[in-house]
Amino acid sequence: MSPTHPHPSDLSPETLVVSAGRPERVHDAPVNPPIVLSSTFVGTGTVVDGDRAYGRYSNPTWDPLEEAISALEGATVPSLVFGSGLAAVSAALSLVPVKGVLVMPTHSYQGALVMAQELAAKGLFVLRTVDIADTDEVISALTGAGERAASMLWLESPTNPMLEVADLRVLARSAKAVGALVVTDNTFSTPLVQKPLELGSDIVLHSVTKYLAGHSDVVLGSLTTSNAELRATLHHHRSIHGAIAGPFEAWLALRGLRTLALRVERSQATAGELARRLEAHGGVDAVRYPGLDSDPGHQRAKDQMHGFGSILGIEVSGGAAAAEAVVEALRIWTPATSLGGVESLIERRRRHANEPTSVPENLLRLSVGIENIEDLWADLEQALRRGATG
Ligand SMILES: *Cc1c(COP(=O)(O)O)cnc(C)c1O
Repeated sequence: MSPTHPHPSDLSPETLVVSAGRPERVHDAPVNPPIVLSSTFVGTGTVVDGDRAYGRYSNPTWDPLEEAISALEGATVPSLVFGSGLAAVSAALSLVPVKGVLVMPTHSYQGALVMAQELAAKGLFVLRTVDIADTDEVISALTGAGERAASMLWLESPTNPMLEVADLRVLARSAKAVGALVVTDNTFSTPLVQKPLELGSDIVLHSVTKYLAGHSDVVLGSLTTSNAELRATLHHHRSIHGAIAGPFEAWLALRGLRTLALRVERSQATAGELARRLEAHGGVDAVRYPGLDSDPGHQRAKDQMHGFGSILGIEVSGGAAAAEAVVEALRIWTPATSLGGVESLIERRRRHANEPTSVPENLLRLSVGIENIEDLWADLEQALRRGATG
């Protein structure tokens, strides 16, 4: 690399989000990478020769985003962007061999869990769901206790929407011991808060839709690994199954990524303070947030995260109806699914038919945005008051 492009590992993440994936610094070059709209590329070679060849294999607009995500996750080969987070999930699950065993958290992202359940129901592999915070339970599912050992461990921490914290280091080591691949969905934390490759994962997954893009205006996913062979397999899967990113979406995601550090810093600080205030609020039975001293995952989160993220779960006193009343009474918080955007979102998770029944009926998931904290708090307070009386 040229001296004007220092090696990514020399730089802090706050700098990398701004500097990674820039065009080469030559006279009159644009500061931002251009959007390339072309379905095919001039050449006589093939993708195997490293040529771009065709728009399903490669697009110059993906490259800077893939480079930037890899730099942030500390990977040594470029990431792969996909048409959605679930497309990335699909590609990752394709690595489970036929009749293999997949170990997955009971409280995984709903779409990932449904996909795994459907593939398992077809007989492609065996699915073992576990309480990912219970290390002994996960290890026994990995070894198989007399049955087949696992081929893949799926990790998500903190979990969605229960905010349970897995011991990522110990679980990755235990998975390696039985020869299982480790995939970590790092969507909730972002690479600024948690770096799964450093904690022993083979592959990191993002719903780029959420924090990385950060403005609730694109749907994209990514996979990141430092294993070139795995990357080639996943690249082949993306090319052949066709779940590719549109160039415009990839460009928007990189544009959003430039402010990731500022967004995470603000939303995380606000989430921590709101969690403390909500814990002391009479209208709330429980707050789930690993940043709280009282949270069962607090120590583990401290050991493996830099901060505690910006998602929290609250259990509203008075059950599902009271929780719905709170959501309806809010004026600044937007009632919507999804998370990780600049705007604060809230939803009662059990309104989704597929949500596991172990998720409390009165649980609201809050995705804290970057608005003023006192405005967010005043809105929550008035809604909790109305929810309690409504
Ligand atoms: C949203 C989400 C996904 C799925 O991503 P899409 O971009 O919606 O396809 C996967 N994992 C987590 C944790 C998510 O929040």
